[in-house]
Amino acid sequence: MSLVIRHARLVLPTAVEEGDCWVEGPRIAAVGEFPPPSHAGVLDAHGLFLAPGFMDLHVHGGGGGDFALGDPASARKAVEFHTQFGTTGLLAALPPAPWEKLARACQALMGIPGVLGVYLEGPFLSPAKAGALPADRVLTPTPEALAGFRRFLSRWRNFVRVVVLAPEVDPNGVMLAEVVASGAVAALGHSDASYEQAMEAVRKGAQLFTHLGNAMRGLHHREPGLVGAALDCPAYVELICDGVHVHPAFVGLVARVKGLDRICLVTDAMPAVGLGDGLHPWEERAVVVRSGVARLPDGPLAGSTLTMNRAVRNFQSFAGCSLSEAVRCATLNPAQLLGLAHQWGSLEVGKQADLALWDETLEVQLVLRAGKVVYARRGWA
Ligand SMILES: [Zn+2]
Repeated sequence: MSLVIRHARLVLPTAVEEGDCWVEGPRIAAVGEFPPPSHAGVLDAHGLFLAPGFMDLHVHGGGGGDFALGDPASARKAVEFHTQFGTTGLLAALPPAPWEKLARACQALMGIPGVLGVYLEGPFLSPAKAGALPADRVLTPTPEALAGFRRFLSRWRNFVRVVVLAPEVDPNGVMLAEVVASGAVAALGHSDASYEQAMEAVRKGAQLFTHLGNAMRGLHHREPGLVGAALDCPAYVELICDGVHVHPAFVGLVARVKGLDRICLVTDAMPAVGLGDGLHPWEERAVVVRSGVARLPDGPLAGSTLTMNRAVRNFQSFAGCSLSEAVRCATLNPAQLLGLAHQWGSLEVGKQADLALWDETLEVQLVLRAGKVVYARRGWA
């Protein structure tokens, strides 16, 4: 397909500018002002924002679809759900499970457009900070567990893109070294680590803090913990900006201290996002969703019901930043963290044409993945 999207408000990494975008096949051929190619179709996007598609690093499912089931149809349903909200690339998050189950999930996810890989949330986590993850499936690094981990990582090399671990469970950094050697991003989370333990893990190669503020020791003036370490080092941090998981003032503080090039907005959405309030099964347990907040019956938050467009809108208001800065935290920053920024994350010539058109309120109108329309709001077809 050859298409020129005209008169859009282009959301660039440092500014929003009126202009055009030429999509040729799966790639962006030109951005800004250029002589219109004679063979291309034209779409007038007057008044709408054109942005790179969102990249959600940490999402469990959506619309009833669950990435962990090992069922391609269920996984596709989840991808389609998030596409409606402007997400064009995501990492499928997998809670701790036996290696065979995780392998089945990877198998089912391979080759699904929009799934850029897997986000392994465990299994070497602190049982005390498991949150809504099944604490009984958390592992300690016995030689046997380590051997299983090593086999799994080598089998799914380049597809497992992030592995979350608790550094205090891995005192010699053995697992961390395995993750780094596999080429995946080592993330710290679901952890009760001290500031020192976390900083040591960062020195050994950890690059990301999983949902900062959630499932970790809080910031204490005598023991700054994982939160303090995250604020005091150059690693990236995830934030769940639903206004529930972390306070808006915390988001503002993190934005000021970390800077806007080290924040990745994630949904951590659970499979029932989009199904409304009620009782929904997840990982063999019941999750209660009330007024859009998902909890286990005994209280802990169980993922979110967030979508990426809302995350960006909330972040812009909580952090008091510009629209392009907020969008960068949901596009270019995660692409850079994953080493995929040469192909994704901004409106630049040569990058994949993963694009979303949305209005003033970030209501998504049209989504393209690799130059093809994958979502059109009613009235656009
Ligand atoms: Zn998660």
